[in-house]
Amino acid sequence: MEAETEDKKFKQEYMSKSENLQKEISQKEKQLQLRNICHDQEEALQELACKLSESKLKIEDIKEANKALQGQVWLKDKEATHCKLCEKEFSLSKRKHHCRNCGEIFCNACSDNELPLPSSPKPVRVCDSCHAFLIQRCSSNVP
Ligand SMILES: [Zn+2]
Ligand SMILES: [Zn+2]
Repeated sequence: MEAETEDKKFKQEYMSKSENLQKEISQKEKQLQLRNICHDQEEALQELACKLSESKLKIEDIKEANKALQGQVWLKDKEATHCKLCEKEFSLSKRKHHCRNCGEIFCNACSDNELPLPSSPKPVRVCDSCHAFLIQRCSSNVP
């Protein structure tokens, strides 16, 4: 009956080997699943980061709009006698103009720009310094 015991031995070995193999396979599968989960999470994180920076930009816009709305200092016409930028005195021929962004008063030459602001979608008058600042901010927002 030696052949039979050999056979049994072989079968046992075979069984344990295949069991080990199955264990390995299931372990590998688990690792793969984990890796997939990690990958998914990374993507979700990246998406979240994108949304975060988007909403940050929106908050900045809202802040800007608030500033514009509160007008920071919406100077009264009477209080301004000189252009804030070139400091030329206003007169009948040198009219006063409000910058819609900072609310200061400028002569026509120093506020001869129109830009859409967060507070108003259609272009409005802005002073030279606000114009430069807004243009620069606009172009730095473009990826
Ligand atoms: Zn001026
Ligand atoms: Zn301005």
